[in-house]
Amino acid sequence: MRIVTVVGNRPQFVKAAAVSRLLRAHHEELIVHTGQHYDDALSRVFFDELAIPEPDAQLEAGTGTNTAQTARILGELEGVLEELEPDVVLVYGDTNSTLAGALAGAQSRRPVAHVEAGMRSFDRAMPEELNRVLCDHASDLLLCSTPRAVENLAAEGIREGVHLVGDVMADVSISFAEVAERRSTALEEHGLAAGEYLLVTAHRAGNVDPPERLEALVELLEALPIKAVFPLHPRTHARLTSTGLLERLDRAERLVLVPPLGYLDFLVLARSARAVLTDSGGVQKEAYLLGVPCVTLRPSTEWVETVEAGWNELVDLDREAALAALARVDGGEVAARPRPELYGGGRAAERIVEVIGTYTPAR
Ligand code: UDP
Repeated sequence: MRIVTVVGNRPQFVKAAAVSRLLRAHHEELIVHTGQHYDDALSRVFFDELAIPEPDAQLEAGTGTNTAQTARILGELEGVLEELEPDVVLVYGDTNSTLAGALAGAQSRRPVAHVEAGMRSFDRAMPEELNRVLCDHASDLLLCSTPRAVENLAAEGIREGVHLVGDVMADVSISFAEVAERRSTALEEHGLAAGEYLLVTAHRAGNVDPPERLEALVELLEALPIKAVFPLHPRTHARLTSTGLLERLDRAERLVLVPPLGYLDFLVLARSARAVLTDSGGVQKEAYLLGVPCVTLRPSTEWVETVEAGWNELVDLDREAALAALARVDGGEVAARPRPELYGGGRAAERIVEVIGTYTPAR
C-alpha cells in the first residue's frame, strides 16, 4: 500500500516519528511537509533527533491566518496527491495541516486515516477544536487514543472505521526515554536540580493573542514560587515582543527564558520537573506519562482522563488557582494518586499499522 503522511508542525513530527518506521516495514510511505512550522527549532531538530525520514514533498504553508494557511495547504495538496497517488492519506492531530490533509484526501476520494481522532475539548473558540471535528467527519479510519474519544465520535454519529489504538505520543516518550537520559545535558546546561524547578510552555492563540490574556499569563508566571524554565515558542516570543511584555518577563527573578527545546532535552526537563505548567495538549499527556503533575493554563482540555486521574488541574490563567494547584503538588497530594495506564502502553503505532494494513476502502 502507498501511504502519504501529511505533517506540518512540531507535535505532528513527534507523532509521525512513532508510526513512520513501523509503517515503512510493511508499506511504502511518502511524507509531505506542509511547512506550517519551518524553522530549525520547531522542525529540523525533530527530524534529526527522532530519525524521521526526509519529506518527499515540501510545501510552503508558512504564516498567515488559519483560513489563509489552510487554503494554501489545501490548494497545494491537490496536485501533490494527484502526483503521488496514495492508497491512504494519513493525518495527525488537530492543526491546519490536519484539516487540509483530510479535506484534500476526501475530495480526491482517497481514504483518510486520522490519528488522534475523536479528541474534543468542546470549546469551539479553539481553532484546533474546529479542525478536529471537521477532520473526523472527513475521515474513513478514525484512530483513537482513548475510549473517551471513541464515545465522542459515537455521540456525533461516527461508528464506522473507528479503532481504539492508544496514543502515539506514549510510544515516542517510552521509546526515547533512555536515549534522552543518555544524550541530553539540559539539566546541567540550565543549572537545574531534579524536582527543584517547574517547566512551562504556552503558545495557544487564546492565551497569547489577546493582550489582556497575555498579561494575565505574565502575571501568573511572575508569581511562580520556584525557578521555572520557559522555552518560548516563536508565536509567544513574537506576541511578548510586540506588547513590550518580554522585557518584563525577562526581569522576573525565578523565570529562565530559553529558546524552544529539542525533543530529547524537553523530555528530560519534563521528567525531572516538580510540575509542568502548560497550555499544550501534547505536554499535558506527556506529563502524565512521565508521572509529573500538570497545571493546565486553559479552561478545558481534550485529555480529560489526566484530570479525572487527579494528575492534571485546569486553572486557565487564574494566578491564585495555579498557586493553589502547585501547593497541592508540594504537599505530595498529587504524586500519591494512582496513575493508571491510559494511553495504550507504547503500542499505538503497531496497532495503527495493523489497522491500515487490513483496511479495504468501501468507496
Ligand atoms: N516540545 C519540545 N520542545 C519544546 C516544547 C515542546 O520538544 O520546547 C514537544 C513536547 O515534548 C511535545 C510536543 O512538542 O511532544 C508538543 O507540541 P506543542 O506543545 O507545540 O503542540 P500541542 O500539543 O500544543 O498541539
